Amino acid sequence: MSETTWDVIVIGAGAVGENVADRAVQGGLSVVLVESELVGGECSYWACMPSKALIRSGLALRAVERLPGAAQAVTGGIDVPALLARRNSFTSNWDDAGQVRWVEKAGIGLERGHARLNGPKQVTVTGKNGTVTTLTARHAVVVCTGSDPQLPNIPGLIDARPWTPREATSVKEVPPSLAIIGGGVVGVEMATAYRDLGAEVTLFARSGLLNGQEEFAGEMVAKALRERAVTIVETSPTRVERTSDGVVIDTSDGSFTASEVLIATGRIARTSDLGLDTVGLTPGDWLSVDDTMLVHDTDWLYAVGDVNHRALLTHQGKYQARAAGDVIAARAKGETVDDSPWGAHVATADHGAVPQVTFSDPEVASVGVMSKDAEKQGIDVQVVDYNLGWVAGASLQADNYEGQARFVIDRERQVIVGATFVGQDVAELLHSATIAIVGEVPLSRLWHAVPSYPTISEVWLRLLEAIGRP
Ligand SMILES: Cc1cc2nc3c(=O)[nH]c(=O)nc-3n(C[C@H](O)[C@H](O)[C@H](O)COP(=O)(O)OP(=O)(O)OC[C@H]3O[C@@H](n4cnc5c(N)ncnc54)[C@H](O)[C@@H]3O)c2cc1C
Repeated sequence: MSETTWDVIVIGAGAVGENVADRAVQGGLSVVLVESELVGGECSYWACMPSKALIRSGLALRAVERLPGAAQAVTGGIDVPALLARRNSFTSNWDDAGQVRWVEKAGIGLERGHARLNGPKQVTVTGKNGTVTTLTARHAVVVCTGSDPQLPNIPGLIDARPWTPREATSVKEVPPSLAIIGGGVVGVEMATAYRDLGAEVTLFARSGLLNGQEEFAGEMVAKALRERAVTIVETSPTRVERTSDGVVIDTSDGSFTASEVLIATGRIARTSDLGLDTVGLTPGDWLSVDDTMLVHDTDWLYAVGDVNHRALLTHQGKYQARAAGDVIAARAKGETVDDSPWGAHVATADHGAVPQVTFSDPEVASVGVMSKDAEKQGIDVQVVDYNLGWVAGASLQADNYEGQARFVIDRERQVIVGATFVGQDVAELLHSATIAIVGEVPLSRLWHAVPSYPTISEVWLRLLEAIGRP
């Protein structure tokens, strides 16, 4: 058994853990990353990157098909082997050698194996071959272990060997048909991708699609998926069974059969085998943190990324990671900590300015407060909508462009607190709204931010006109 001491131990080398480690090293601390699977984590190998690679070709093809002149050049459908090969290149064929090189170059130590806490500032790492290493932290242990898929309690489901997002994003042979349970972002994105890959898709979404978004977003995506012959069933499966004909899914609306079934019903904290009980915490729980990512009632344990349940998105986890890495270094060196709202050492944006894109067709891009939540938060709310199809830049992008935009306004403060864009190619529009919300740019000043003609961004002008000049 070997023993080493570091300033900081980071458990989990996903995108978030890598960023915490990098910032702490840049702050002058010695840091070791512990990883039980692939350096780079879920996002690189089984989530963001492969899923977007699976979706992109279909979006591009349909964009061309909506454009007379270019549409005539489309003489075939998706080349599935070429698409899967491109997906493989985005995951580096599930080989983390490149990311390991980056870790080494960044001056971060790397320990391979499964980490468990063993009391305050103590971590035990068990390697694949059974070797045990004990790590001690001088200043902090940072948990960045991410999340696992949540499997709903449906009779027969586990025995039916369902797919999780990992199997869906790393698929080598596309099944003839796929049933997807869950109408959130992952369910919708995988329905989009697998329909393009040629599978018959049935989506079970008991409360409609994209529940966390403005209602019109889910409705527009559902309409578009139905037009592409995706079956959307708005009821819950009551029983699942794998038979010789495939997986049979029973619901109160009848039975459906598919070659495979994918579970996309949310996430649980990856903390069940982390030794949390040795530091007075409950295994399996999400780790609740303050705005510097310090776990409540501790002065040495941090939790960053999915595992703290603030915003289960890579970009938001990496934002938290920059704050956490910097604050750990500042505290270790006895420097001033800037933990006031929007300070250098806090992740204030998690509370009301989280951007998210669903890469469906149409895309859904949103940030900040949704209209249904604004009143509950005590905001004197004004909601304005505009049909994106009426914007010249959008109609140039595609014939019969269908899209919708919404701003949620705080009337008292005269600022935008929420924005949603639904339509082809709206993802890149989102950051303008994120900046307006984070910067709390007054509506009167936004009138002077002139969008170029003819771009989709002209929807900003149309929405401001709908609000009326302050
Ligand atoms: C299908 C899908 C698509 C997604 N698409 C997007 C997207 O487009 N954009 C976006 O922003 N987000 C997306 N997400 C969410 C995103 O993947 C997560 O928010 C992100 O991966 C979280 O990063 P993390 O570093 O917190 O956790 P992870 O990436 O899960 O990394 C945690 C790491 O910790 C390691 N680990 C766990 N326990 C231990 C232990 N005890 N000892 C040692 N190592 C351990 C794991 O092996 C893993 O490598 C998607 C999610 C899914 C499922």
